[in-house]
Amino acid sequence: MNSRVKILVRGIVQGVGFRPFIYSLAKSLNLKGYVLNSSKGVTIEIEGDNCDTFLQRLPREAPPLSQIMDIEVIPMPYHGYQDFQIFKSEDEGSFTLVSADVSVCQDCFRELFDMNDRRYLYPFINCTNCGPRYSITKSIPYDRPNTTMSVFRMCTDCENEYHTPEDRRFHAQPNACPVCGPHVELRVKSEKLKINEKENPVKETIRLLKEGHIVAIKGLGGFHLACDASNEKAVNTLRLRKRKSNKPFALMAPDLNTVKKYCNVSREEENLLTSMKRPIVLLTKKEALLPEGVSPKNPCIGFMLPYTPLHYMLFYYPLNSELVTRHSLPVTNFYALVMTSGNIAEEPLVIHNDEAVAKLSGIADAFLLHNRDIFMRVDDSVVRIMEEKETEIRRYGNTEKSNISDSPSHRFGGSLSFIRRSRGYVPDPIQLHDEGPDVLGCGADIKNVFTLTKGSFAIPSQHIGDMENYETLLFFEESLRNLKSVYRVKPVALAYDFHPMYLSTQWALRQEDIQKVGIQHHHAHVASVMAERGMKEKVIGVSFDGTGYGTDGSLWGGEFLIADLKGFKRAGHLKYIPLPGGEVAVREPWRITVSLIRDAAGDEAISYLKSLDFIDTYGERKIQDILKIIDRQQFSPLSSGAGRLFDGISALMGVCDKNTFEGEAAIALEAIAVPGIVDDYPVDIQLREPLEIDFSQTVLKMIEDLCKGADKGTISAKFHNTLSTVIMRVVQRLSHVHSIKDVVLCGGVFQNMYLLERTMRNLSSIDMTVHIHEKVPTNDAGISLGQAYIIRERIKGAA
Ligand SMILES: [Zn+2]
Ligand SMILES: [Zn+2]
Repeated sequence: MNSRVKILVRGIVQGVGFRPFIYSLAKSLNLKGYVLNSSKGVTIEIEGDNCDTFLQRLPREAPPLSQIMDIEVIPMPYHGYQDFQIFKSEDEGSFTLVSADVSVCQDCFRELFDMNDRRYLYPFINCTNCGPRYSITKSIPYDRPNTTMSVFRMCTDCENEYHTPEDRRFHAQPNACPVCGPHVELRVKSEKLKINEKENPVKETIRLLKEGHIVAIKGLGGFHLACDASNEKAVNTLRLRKRKSNKPFALMAPDLNTVKKYCNVSREEENLLTSMKRPIVLLTKKEALLPEGVSPKNPCIGFMLPYTPLHYMLFYYPLNSELVTRHSLPVTNFYALVMTSGNIAEEPLVIHNDEAVAKLSGIADAFLLHNRDIFMRVDDSVVRIMEEKETEIRRYGNTEKSNISDSPSHRFGGSLSFIRRSRGYVPDPIQLHDEGPDVLGCGADIKNVFTLTKGSFAIPSQHIGDMENYETLLFFEESLRNLKSVYRVKPVALAYDFHPMYLSTQWALRQEDIQKVGIQHHHAHVASVMAERGMKEKVIGVSFDGTGYGTDGSLWGGEFLIADLKGFKRAGHLKYIPLPGGEVAVREPWRITVSLIRDAAGDEAISYLKSLDFIDTYGERKIQDILKIIDRQQFSPLSSGAGRLFDGISALMGVCDKNTFEGEAAIALEAIAVPGIVDDYPVDIQLREPLEIDFSQTVLKMIEDLCKGADKGTISAKFHNTLSTVIMRVVQRLSHVHSIKDVVLCGGVFQNMYLLERTMRNLSSIDMTVHIHEKVPTNDAGISLGQAYIIRERIKGAA
């Protein structure tokens, strides 16, 4: 008896070797019919005796890069197919998922360094299991003509592979070889730098890097600026030319063992580093084996492993050909390369050859270019693993804890946390828990990411960047256009941040023929965690960051909200502190210290400032001026930002008095906190509506400790503990008043692992259910998901 079924597979099923897999499976079961890519996903018809077996094996044996979200099976009448075939893609005008870019696979890696392979040392080797995807896809379905590979005509050999179902490159859209595919080219900025035109450009690049030069290297989603990380002079030159801040550089190492030489690497971190998504993983430095200039005064360092064939060639290109044997890799050319984003002054990543030469000439001495166009720029992703302290508690047998820790909300041992979700992860959608209309969340201005929703999916964009220049706005528009067309999203509403000066807000307000809704910054933070978990009921939101525009026009950032998707009530906040000079105070946190001390000590402020050497360090005149503008409430916007409190405390302790990049002072303060301290400082909760948390006592006690010469690591730990305890006390009170047990911790301040872990432990101990981000960053890059979730729900409610 012949039976026939039609199967619709939805999910990430295009560009991941799905059709060849279906083809071989059907053939092996002697089934007839066809498979094709449609804009809905993959459509299959099978006819024969083994349909059931086919349906069982399909989800079990699907290719590693695919992500099946849904399989629909429709019984059909007998047709009489003669063979099993792969049909041309059809476009049905609906929606499919595009794969993110993936690192080179083991098979391609082996061929890359196999002297007898026709792709030996070919920097664009790829197959259906690996290579570029999102960054080269212009539209769907994902077929070669819709990618930037369309300009390369395959040679006979490649063509054969492409059409042979048994081949690893069957329908590999970016398939290429040295005969027919893209090529690299090395250019120097000035004639003075001699290169041998006859040599392989990669080999010459390695020589330049070894000589200490800086080379702009075109990668997968954009350019990197590279130098030899072990060359102190080169690192310092790059820092001097590229940025005027202490922001750490990302590093690339040839393999895991080399990373382990420099950093402590846990098993989870190992898995992340070697995953095909190849993010930058933040790791703790072992000892000072690398120049300080790589990540100044920072206990962490971001490492990634090579993810393109070209990266691997930089490390393993055989400089001395006699040493190469067929089956062993040559010795690595570098232990680590600095691979920092190829951009200037916080502009978007450079992706075009001419753009690179024009914009990066002030930084790079040479350019390693290639002629495969990047369509979508995507920065490297940055992630870290939450430490395993909680797991230890579990391991040592606190049964009560272990019960709590098993629920997903409490898996804080070894769970993934995003700092930046971009290459390798975008455009993977985030599954929402129900269906809804198409909407757009525009995000905020720092670390902008926008989010589109479609059906039951949210699609966060790649990292767009700080919306402080025209180029970033253009990149925002370009990515939005692209994601809207690739996913066929037609937003009926958009949400923006209340901040009137945000470029993203101004852009949103200019849009026509669309419903526009402003969402308060910290409310959006809370809703973003709710979106990840499909929550809709009221929660206690602890939303801590540097700055977000409040409904009273002040700068919020230490907020306790009773929130759901309909709205929120501000139930508590950190006490307002004037920021003398506004933006200047954000860059120079010692000004915030002056403000904190004025608030805590009143007329005695000067004597406290003297005891901290502030008068000697910053000058009596300047301090007096600052006190004056604080008292007259001039140029001193009020802030309840927890991030600003960290800034002020960091400068008070003499840890860091300048923010050359966002979060620097706070990171430095966390870095010195010693573990194992249980003490707190006193802190007041003013019982009014909303509750107000006053750190005056904390500040005075800290100064006392400092003057007594107490250990700064202990003082920092005690400050962290104080904040964590006060969060617990406020939450406990709000939980009691509002009968809510669900607590959301969100905002950039919770990137502080010491604070986050301690707060989660404290809240668990008073029986709260704690929710934090796992799928998008907790910093402002997570805002747009929350915005989108709120208006999507409101539209559904109104319909
Ligand atoms: Zn491959
Ligand atoms: Zn070819």
